[in-house]
Amino acid sequence: MFKKILIANRGDVALRVLRACKALGIPTVIVHSTADAQSMPVKLADESVCIGGPAAADSYLNIPAILTAATITGCDAVHPGVGFLAENAYFAEIIAAHGMTFIGPSAQHIQKMGDKVEAKITAAEAGLPLVPGSPGAVPTLEEAAELAKGVGFPLLVKAASGGGGRGMKVAKTADDLAEAYASARSEAKAAFGDDTVYLERYLDNPRHIEVQVIADSHGNVVHLGERECSVQRRHQKLFEEAPSPALSQQERAEIGRIAAEATAKMGYLGVGTMEFLWQDGQFFFIEMNTRLQVEHPITEAITGIDLVREQILIAAGGQLPFTQKDIEFDGHAIECRINAEHPETFMPTPGKVASFHAAGGPGVRVDTVLYTGYQIPPFYDSLIAKLVVHGADREQALARLRGALDEFVVEPIPTTLALHRRLLDAPAIQDGSYTIRWLEETFLNQD
Ligand code: ADP
Repeated sequence: MFKKILIANRGDVALRVLRACKALGIPTVIVHSTADAQSMPVKLADESVCIGGPAAADSYLNIPAILTAATITGCDAVHPGVGFLAENAYFAEIIAAHGMTFIGPSAQHIQKMGDKVEAKITAAEAGLPLVPGSPGAVPTLEEAAELAKGVGFPLLVKAASGGGGRGMKVAKTADDLAEAYASARSEAKAAFGDDTVYLERYLDNPRHIEVQVIADSHGNVVHLGERECSVQRRHQKLFEEAPSPALSQQERAEIGRIAAEATAKMGYLGVGTMEFLWQDGQFFFIEMNTRLQVEHPITEAITGIDLVREQILIAAGGQLPFTQKDIEFDGHAIECRINAEHPETFMPTPGKVASFHAAGGPGVRVDTVLYTGYQIPPFYDSLIAKLVVHGADREQALARLRGALDEFVVEPIPTTLALHRRLLDAPAIQDGSYTIRWLEETFLNQD
């Protein structure tokens, strides 16, 4: 087992990893920016090292500083959390080159899946169904116009290095292609330093359903069911649930089996998520995330498995303590992402939290670093809390969510709590019939 783990992240993600390390009895070192010096994970970790200024480039993305911190504190493993360097193959590689363990998949898998063009090729080889599209990268507009005839309209021009919904543009007809192609490329160049793009058929009203997989180094590969993540704004998830209200038992078992088989074929190690779009009863692979997901707690709730604990044990060479037939799905779980954002304009609202109260009670979990008096820094992602509820069935989970949202207080800054309270009354949430377009096109558009 590891002697000491360095946590290369911040906020509730750092706290989540810290909790898993504590439960395993592993000492921790946390790195932080000057802006996070007073944060809860910094106070709770055994040791902390300030690695730079507030800008992520100076701190949470500062690989030399993180490596130095890990070396001088005697860490033998690094957990990258979610975001920042979690999907940086070079980081995984250099950690290993310094004799430490990167708690995640191999650099090769991160590299392959991080490039969506390569990811689709790998996924097809592993037997996953794809959204129809260009066979690879599309380097010129002329080629895009030629390939578009085969893909059909509407289509999406997508960045190979894309993430967080950026570098993705719709061309409704052939007339829009030139503009979509140019703007996807320039957005991708600005956001990811890589303007490689590809084409994909634009599905008109799918659901986003993803499958959690986990694999150890002893040949055990297990899927932990699906998560329904169709409630999105600007391709960003806001509300997730497990299981998906759309799938039958048979569809669930089938996509789980396909995802686990593909994971095994790839020789993948650790936790990962296969993301699919689902429309008219068909699944289409869109990407694989080679890390923990923000919405992992809903899977933990319905399986009773601590994903971060398993992730650490797998990285240490351990064997999964379960096989597929041991996995039982218990009840229903929902996660609300509470962001420091205005609930109508979605403008970030960093600032001081003068009053804070987290919800509680049976089946309620809150992952957050908030406390009364906490100053939310303006430099990072606006996610400030995850509210996760679990019930014996969907009805009970929704009822518990209503109670939890009523109890939750974050004042005076505006947050998405207000949006989640309104969402709960929407018929499409109550009956689970929403799709990826519903939030923006119907719910937020209604008045
Ligand atoms: P990112 O890595 O930027 O999150 P994804 O490929 O995972 O990009 O897609 C994010 C979201 O964008 C999906 O959940 C879905 O809402 C939408 N999307 C992606 N591909 C398509 C497609 N081919 N058709 C329709 N919507 C899509």
